[in-house]
Amino acid sequence: MVKRLLIHPEELSIKWIDRMAQHGIDVLGLHPAGGEESPKHIENMLYLLKTDAYRRLLDYAVSSGLKIEYEMHAASFLVDRKLFESHPEYFRMDETGERTRRMNFCFSNPEAMEIALSSAEKLADQLYASEPNYYFWLDDDQKGSGCQCEKCRAYSFSDQQLLFENALIKRLKRNRPNAKVSHLAYYQAMRPPKAVIPETDIFLEYAPIERDMKKSLRAQNADAAHIEALIAFFGKENARVLEYWFDNSYFSSWKKPPKPFRADGALVKEDIDFYSRLGFSNIASFACFLGEDYEALYGSADISAFE
Ligand SMILES: [Zn+2]
Repeated sequence: MVKRLLIHPEELSIKWIDRMAQHGIDVLGLHPAGGEESPKHIENMLYLLKTDAYRRLLDYAVSSGLKIEYEMHAASFLVDRKLFESHPEYFRMDETGERTRRMNFCFSNPEAMEIALSSAEKLADQLYASEPNYYFWLDDDQKGSGCQCEKCRAYSFSDQQLLFENALIKRLKRNRPNAKVSHLAYYQAMRPPKAVIPETDIFLEYAPIERDMKKSLRAQNADAAHIEALIAFFGKENARVLEYWFDNSYFSSWKKPPKPFRADGALVKEDIDFYSRLGFSNIASFACFLGEDYEALYGSADISAFE
């Protein structure tokens, strides 16, 4: 079982790295916060990645046996919103037929796609010590942020997302033959695509944000058939889960200061068993809002339930 924990870049510390290594975590995931401010959070991370001090921290993580990955809502970062004034056609059409700069872009516009892909290559170049797994997700929104233009509207949101991912994997493989790209099954993209077939090395990343965190998946009668359909569509080999068990940003309603936090160990174990039986061998959880500011308030975070 590959175990990954995702934290905000600014929360990384020697202590966090030691904690992950001690508890058998395989991958340190850096996750700039989502929401509408996601491009700013990505910029801030890229700034950190240029500094010697931060690179030393990541080198320490690697020497402690951790692999490094980066996962982020990237669409608004990849297609600069400033282009809206001169090229509204690059952006998505909303339900009312108006082009809008808010969220994502038009997946049928070749120039917009080219801008997204060349930005993605530049972004990939800046991800210090990254594994060749790329998690450049569409923007962070619950509903209604697909493109409704004449060409895009034939596709579901999951299909629109996969159009982008298929183009992305082809582009990244030009210089990174081992690249793999995440398809995030999340909110609007929870259902499998219908019209678009995934290219090789697109993997499922199942992130059930709408689940009940107070009950195990079995206790809430989670729809195993739905998850199996996603796995069947994308393939089992690299399929992975992204959970919220240790996500104190979730439990703090994404507002600082962080709330006191204790993971439900029995629930985590039961859910890992549920996922393993479905065939997942790569499982992650967010573990945000457990950095130094958390420690100053409440002491060290306990991630032992993930062992
Ligand atoms: Zn469109």
